Amino acid sequence: MTLRNILIHPDPRLNKSATPVALVDDDLRRLADDMLETMYHAPGIGLAAPQVAVMSRVLVMDCEKEEDATPDPMVLINPAVVWESEERSVYEEGCLSIPEQYAEVERPAEVEVEWLGLDGKTRRERFDGLWATCVQHEIDHLDGKLFIDYLKPLKRQMITRKMQKLKREKARA
Ligand SMILES: [Zn+2]
Repeated sequence: MTLRNILIHPDPRLNKSATPVALVDDDLRRLADDMLETMYHAPGIGLAAPQVAVMSRVLVMDCEKEEDATPDPMVLINPAVVWESEERSVYEEGCLSIPEQYAEVERPAEVEVEWLGLDGKTRRERFDGLWATCVQHEIDHLDGKLFIDYLKPLKRQMITRKMQKLKREKARA
């Protein structure tokens, strides 16, 4: 397994739609392993392939928050929301591509998602709580959308400027 470099906003690749996966092969399994390792290392609870510069519709997540809980890594290939609740919930979201910035985002409280597993089989599951927020946040990444796109323009611009500054500092370091 290899740690992959996480792209930091603003980066044009984070605003592009990713391509559906046609074949679950060894390359894809390797990518999923690397993404999980990169996510746990960061640490984060979700990561989408475009965040590591791979423009494929793949995401990984593990929202098990209890410290001594067994890890519950999930790999979702070509995920799609097939149902969403009318009930909404608000979570303070963050993103590994927008480090140390958090903001409240409102989304459907529950969603049902269909995806392809690493075994090539179709799965369907209903998510609620943090899992629901996380899976919607990550699917957004596959459509080139970031959580700051839900914020008012002024707040969004403020965060983007902070990230530009962070990137300049990193480039100099
Ligand atoms: Zn994110």
